[in-house]
Amino acid sequence: MSFGTAASREVVRQLMDAGYEAVFVGGSVRDHLLGKEASDIDIATSAMPTEVKEVFSHTFDVGIQHGTVLVMMYGEPIEVTTYRTEGTYADHRRPDEVHFVRSLEEDLKRRDFTMNALALTLDGLCIDPFGGQEDIKKRLIRAVGNADDRFQEDALRIIRTVRFASTLGFAIEKDTANALKNNAPLIGHISVERIKTEMDKLFIGKYVERALTILVESNLHRELPLFPQEIGMLSACAPFSSPLHGWAAFMIVGKFNPQDLFKAYKLSNQDKQFLTAVSEAFQERLAGKFGTDQLYKYTESVLQITERIFHALYPNKEYMTIEELREMKGKLPIQSKEDLCINGKDLMEWTGQRGGKWLGEWLYRAERAVLYGQCINTSKHLKEWFLSEFKRQA
Ligand code: ATP
Ligand code: MG
Repeated sequence: MSFGTAASREVVRQLMDAGYEAVFVGGSVRDHLLGKEASDIDIATSAMPTEVKEVFSHTFDVGIQHGTVLVMMYGEPIEVTTYRTEGTYADHRRPDEVHFVRSLEEDLKRRDFTMNALALTLDGLCIDPFGGQEDIKKRLIRAVGNADDRFQEDALRIIRTVRFASTLGFAIEKDTANALKNNAPLIGHISVERIKTEMDKLFIGKYVERALTILVESNLHRELPLFPQEIGMLSACAPFSSPLHGWAAFMIVGKFNPQDLFKAYKLSNQDKQFLTAVSEAFQERLAGKFGTDQLYKYTESVLQITERIFHALYPNKEYMTIEELREMKGKLPIQSKEDLCINGKDLMEWTGQRGGKWLGEWLYRAERAVLYGQCINTSKHLKEWFLSEFKRQA
């Protein structure tokens, strides 16, 4: 089975034709060996960044200081990174300097885990100086070289270990697991944005429950800005169909004030909006089963995760399945204001009155009347309903 997209293969081929080495590296090679669909494909090359730019006519400098050039091939963006080594790490997060080198082995040595330190040539030869293939077979996460040193160099690798445990379900090799525990406090040197990116991936892993247990057993959770105490409850809400569902359970189980959570993990406005809705929906769910109001007000995604969390926290109470929620929501006469068959212009026409605040108020009333089945959502019925109500109130 050939590896990579036609575009990525062409990039490798052209680099080789120009006299350089070029190979596939990183997670896509690992996933390929696991028989999984590769995510982003990374190419490593002996060509220096300026040389890469000479080979291809259409490139972008996306991370040239780290050796990465984006090559456009057949309209597809392909990342090409020059073989590099990393200097010392004074701050446990970023190398003080990177050096471009011509040796692939040097490049693979700087990578985090044996399963990620593999390269694949265009003709399918696997270059594996650290026994990555064997570890993949054994389903083991093993640091390249001395685990303690590697975690001390870059503490992000600590949380990456746990996120790979979540996505791959691999066990953590003994020395790596010990180093994980011993170096957990170093995670404090890593920016929350980078931690959040790994947590996002952790949440959607198939083995998230196991990963959450590892997180707690290695005491890593104590080093994170916020973490729920009742880890079992959080696990009971899994699996998560999106990172946000994971964060929602994290927030509710941890009983965190949404604002505190947003600040601690620097969440985006979009994330905040979703989590605020879940927080409100959950309060309403505590008061009773979801009814028309909630089914209308909240998105299917918000309803789903809120109900799931409720069920995990109160397993003896009646709950609705995803399918039931979807069906009930689908049965509402309208899904949003936009579905209403009339607008302000109609109201002005029917009354002969000019626009103003009253329009919004009456449209809201019409929306509620349709939602609660007091009026059918057609222009004709809404006109009748409106004129009689309007007259009554006049
Ligand atoms: P995914 O499938 O989630 O993208 P990945 O292994 O490709 O997983 P990336 O974050 O995309 O992970 O990184 C690409 C490669 O870069 C890794 O496979 C690894 O070889 C290397 N790498 C990434 N982060 C680090 C790190 N902090 N320390 C050492 N090597 C790293
Ligand atoms: Mg990747």
